[in-house]
Amino acid sequence: MKKYSSEDIAELFKDIPKVSKAFYPTPLHKLENISKKYGVNVFIKREDMSGPSSFGGNKVRKIEYIVGEAVKENVDAIITMGGYQSNASVQLSQYCNLYGIHPIAVLGDNHNEGIPKERKGNLLLNSLLGTEIHLVVRKESPDDPNLNPLWEEVKEKIRKIMADYEARGKKIMYVPVGCTHPAGWVSYIRCFDEIYEQIKSYANDVDYIFHANGSAGSLPGFVVGKALKGSNCKVISINNRRYGPGEQVGVNDVYERIKYLYDKFNLECPSDEEIRSEINIDQNYLGEKYGAPTEVGAEAMIEAAKLEGLFLDPVYTGKSFSGLLSYIKSGKIPKGSNVVYIHTGGTGGLFNGYHVFNQKTIDFITREHK
Ligand SMILES: *Cc1c(COP(=O)(O)O)cnc(C)c1O
Repeated sequence: MKKYSSEDIAELFKDIPKVSKAFYPTPLHKLENISKKYGVNVFIKREDMSGPSSFGGNKVRKIEYIVGEAVKENVDAIITMGGYQSNASVQLSQYCNLYGIHPIAVLGDNHNEGIPKERKGNLLLNSLLGTEIHLVVRKESPDDPNLNPLWEEVKEKIRKIMADYEARGKKIMYVPVGCTHPAGWVSYIRCFDEIYEQIKSYANDVDYIFHANGSAGSLPGFVVGKALKGSNCKVISINNRRYGPGEQVGVNDVYERIKYLYDKFNLECPSDEEIRSEINIDQNYLGEKYGAPTEVGAEAMIEAAKLEGLFLDPVYTGKSFSGLLSYIKSGKIPKGSNVVYIHTGGTGGLFNGYHVFNQKTIDFITREHK
């Protein structure tokens, strides 16, 4: 395949509906102290600083295309789903407000909190935004390790709200969990392009990208972006959600989305084997389940704050950064490599109270400072 310049990529995207309120390109900078400590060049791509508010994140890229489509289609309301502390829903509501679209979020009680007495973290931000919030609590099986019945109930609620809108002759758009709507899958091609251009002031190519992977809305774009730029980068996806039977998404979805992107842009598609070899999903750092804090995640949060003045969160970035550190320490990443860590956001969730942390982090933050 030919090598695509940023202008060539912009040309590919020129007819795709999009709104533009974020601060792109997001910054890329070197983590000097961590790089020095481990002998690997670690850079950070600040998707957490995407804007438009101070609580940005990786959903914003996708949302600019999703809302672009919604504006074009004159949509009256957008409905989405997630946990109480959904980052995606907050970022989506910001854009709804900017474009006069009514934001609705059906949020599931995925950590068995019941109805919260106080609104904190992302739920507070979502409330400030005026999102029409519906909380779904499942009382029947609080210890059910398979949370699918909760999400079935959430989806049923969404179907009812949508049917009601449509019966009133209004247009409502459904955006799946994590804002992983097909309209947004293209967006991480642009992010890879930004990284490839930004790394040029330090190196010829990026050797590794590490990112937190959940609903797989960003991973397909990285893989196709890499191919377009002719990069030899390896994309390592540290999962914060388990992939497997009965789960919402899996490796096959990633594969299908990559193929979809090649088709969408009429690009020559690599073989199935080649595509599959680009998908490197590592589930070893997510701990017991989605949202459950891990020991190494806590250590990574503390190390990032102490060495780099950087805030990570227990659900996504603490875990993905712990994956990166462990690859480096075990020598899986050769010394001198150029690694880009994607800060995917999640800062709003930090303010949900101590119960989101594990004991190690609580001991650290409540200790006497000397
Ligand atoms: C949603 C999210 C992710 C995962 O991104 P996907 O596109 O869903 O795979 C990672 N980090 C944070 C902070 C997120 O909010």
